[in-house]
Amino acid sequence: MSSAAENVRVIDHPVIQTKLTELRDYTSDHRKFRALLNEIASLMVYEVTREWPTTARPVQTPMERTTGRVLARRVTLVPILRAGLGMSDGVLHLLPDARMGHLGVFRDEKTLEPVSYYKKFPPDIASTEVLLIDPMLATGGSASAAIQVLKQSGVGSMRFICLVAAPEGIEAVHRQHPEVPIFCAAIDRELNEKGYILPGLGDAGDRLFGT
Ligand code: URA
Repeated sequence: MSSAAENVRVIDHPVIQTKLTELRDYTSDHRKFRALLNEIASLMVYEVTREWPTTARPVQTPMERTTGRVLARRVTLVPILRAGLGMSDGVLHLLPDARMGHLGVFRDEKTLEPVSYYKKFPPDIASTEVLLIDPMLATGGSASAAIQVLKQSGVGSMRFICLVAAPEGIEAVHRQHPEVPIFCAAIDRELNEKGYILPGLGDAGDRLFGT
């Protein structure tokens, strides 16, 4: 992936699209929303991790000794609080050995700039493959700030996973971090004046936690 356009990947698998449509439906309650979000996250991880390097590992089968392949690097999952938590279990379902960092970002009411208010990472995060997750890529402010924090922590290899992305958010992240691949299940039309994605699915955190 070299140019900005190539650095966005829409995972438009029919099963993911079906689940996303159910998720968008305003009648889906928090229980259904939570289940669907995690299911989609699992399915997406399969594609997101496709190009990760593997390394050879000897293995003794019941028949003979052979050489298998395993992921070359450890994995760290970093959900952006709070909606990112809604995809964490789904990712861990496929990558149960992954460790988790947490990152809180809010928007300063005066400056409108994103501010990181909480950060807790595994000590060796810099040498791991990082999956940064947040279901909604809206203005791109939180995602860009989160990527910046990860870079300051020495992370060299990261992928950003979201469910629904706005064109404005993709552009903003690419402007600041063109080398970070973005994976999403859909690119929606636009942001409204309050920063919500249209058609979107509403406030992902509220729908997820029933708030
Ligand atoms: N965050 C959300 O939860 N939904 C949006 O539409 C935009 C940002």
